[in-house]
Amino acid sequence: MIPKRTFRQRLLTWYGGSARDLPWRRTRDPYAIWVSEIMLQQTRVQAVIPYYERFLAKFPDVRNLAAASESDLLAAWAGLGYYSRARNLKACADLVALRRGRFPETEAGLRELPGIGAYTAAAIAAIAFDHPAAVVDGNVERVVSRLYSIATPLSEAKAEIRAHVEGMVPLIRPGDFAQAMMDLGATICTPRRPRCMLCPLREDCSATVSGDPEHFPVRLPKAEKPLRRGAAFVAVRSDGAILLRKRQDKGLLGGMTEVPTTGWTARNDGATTDAAAPFTADWRRAGQIGHVFTHFALELEVFRAEVNGAAPAGHFWSLVHEISGEALPTVMKKAIEAAIPGATKKPSPQSAKRLA
Ligand code: SF4
Repeated sequence: MIPKRTFRQRLLTWYGGSARDLPWRRTRDPYAIWVSEIMLQQTRVQAVIPYYERFLAKFPDVRNLAAASESDLLAAWAGLGYYSRARNLKACADLVALRRGRFPETEAGLRELPGIGAYTAAAIAAIAFDHPAAVVDGNVERVVSRLYSIATPLSEAKAEIRAHVEGMVPLIRPGDFAQAMMDLGATICTPRRPRCMLCPLREDCSATVSGDPEHFPVRLPKAEKPLRRGAAFVAVRSDGAILLRKRQDKGLLGGMTEVPTTGWTARNDGATTDAAAPFTADWRRAGQIGHVFTHFALELEVFRAEVNGAAPAGHFWSLVHEISGEALPTVMKKAIEAAIPGATKKPSPQSAKRLA
């Protein structure tokens, strides 16, 4: 049994001198903390920071976000992946704006909002409102698995880990405690080569005594992801504009922008040759790109053609200086870049002026 008082004291003292300086930690604004927590689901901290800063500059409060169009929101989110998060963000902002911009303070109240699950509700309740919520992310799971040398595979040990965390959370500074546990996992108790000599919890840790902390958390072997195939067609006009279309609102990458592609899905391959092009043109092979989604990997053959005239029904021409602002998911940016290197990068202010 780990003595709770000294454990918490050591952890919070360490946090006082070692907390990571992250932009969402410079505020207690629930809106900013909520945005950061949604972005951090499935995305690394370093990758989130520039998106978070741009997003907060564009949508500084929840009313502002509620008033934005979905396409503006998706464009600000493009590149972060897992786009259902962005659509839930909008649905949630709409509801909170109706509550005069006030977020519920309890985990139960927060969980009623779209896109806020158990983890996110606990994180917002603890960090923004200092409620003693048990916040359990992947970092915390790793730390607790090691502290207690939990031999059950992680997928089956979630309830046990949560029970340990619930027993640890202090009534004073629960928000700092949650962030300290996350920071410890991110910077000291790392998946590979944990730095136990620097760890404020080493006296309490059973895994470090065993001499093999990396053994925890115990994981079952991963199933290999299926590989799906398809083709993407990048049509370029003589002024450099690229032909795009919007994906259906529902499903994978729903509502995002894409170049025409064949009918690949998470379960089925699409056609892979230019015989499946959406219209006749002099299609030339421009390369192949790969992208890994949560449940499958995708390989797209990319074709390029010079095309002029009006956009076919359901498509539109995106001008050179507009392409970087389109809601293009990473897989579509890769396809365009394979056909036209540099096309999805933001033009410099001088060239943007020239192109406008
Ligand atoms: S002593 Fe090592 S294994 Fe244990 S919690 Fe600290 S860093 Fe992790």
